[in-house]
Amino acid sequence: MMPKKIMFGENAAKEFPYPKNALVITTTTPDIYNKWLDYMGIKNYELYDKVTPDPAIETVEEIKKQYEGKNISYYIGLGGGSSMDVCKYLGKMTGIPKILIPTTFGTGAEMTTYAVISFDHKKKLLQDEAFLADASIVDPYFLPGTPFNIMRNSACDAAAQASEGYDSKLGNPFTQFFCKEAFDILYDAIMNDKHNLLPYGAMLSGIGFGNSSTTLGHALSYVFSNEGVPHGYALSSCTTVAHKFNQSPYYKRFKEIAQKLKFEPLKLQQPLDQAAEVIMPDRGHLDNNPIPVSKEDVIKCLDEIVNANPLA
Ligand SMILES: [Zn+2]
Repeated sequence: MMPKKIMFGENAAKEFPYPKNALVITTTTPDIYNKWLDYMGIKNYELYDKVTPDPAIETVEEIKKQYEGKNISYYIGLGGGSSMDVCKYLGKMTGIPKILIPTTFGTGAEMTTYAVISFDHKKKLLQDEAFLADASIVDPYFLPGTPFNIMRNSACDAAAQASEGYDSKLGNPFTQFFCKEAFDILYDAIMNDKHNLLPYGAMLSGIGFGNSSTTLGHALSYVFSNEGVPHGYALSSCTTVAHKFNQSPYYKRFKEIAQKLKFEPLKLQQPLDQAAEVIMPDRGHLDNNPIPVSKEDVIKCLDEIVNANPLA
């Protein structure tokens, strides 16, 4: 599955024929999004700019209520993952079609059937065909000005998703084709500082892993995320160690990417055994790992992540 319409490359967001009376949903501040909207040349639209990171279901319901009866033609998610996730969930609730425009590139969320929404302050990863965008626009225009930290976390996530997705048991020649192409482009973009290639690489990664799954690297990473480590940062070590465990064809090149992006080793506050208890029930990731993973394996991987500097 992928969006009905995909526009990508320079000027893609400028040349898209935006429908009238769309509701633009964004996370940033007016000084930034006004420039974006000018560039896009969009007219006759409504704007909601109060989406916060890790959006809650209450935000989605508030937007639904606020714009009910206003004949909204489309939702346009403009921003990072949060704006797009809100659009995806809203679209499912109301049946109004959605256009997704990522401005930070890495998750590939504009291509996938996944959305992350918080319920009772807990993030929940949801999947539904109804979350799929009606149109996705991937334009490197939005890239310059992205802080290095956000750029490298996103790039690392995209590379982890592409390579884990390639190895996933749910993969097939079609998804592997996208994952392989995505990783090759991301590797070139990161190693040779061609950052304008990142959006396209992340987009292909989204199509590839979005139709297979991520695996052990992602499963290991969430105990670090729970202690406040950004997603892409946690993957730098976790996916490296997971690729080594799986004897992935991507082990060596993924590690080079993590080194090039200058990630530091990770620390974990909770005991390894306790962390392994949290990781083991994550069957969505572990069952799709190319080889079976025991609790002892997970503890060994965690030990290597926090005690052996896997990026050295
Ligand atoms: Zn990820």
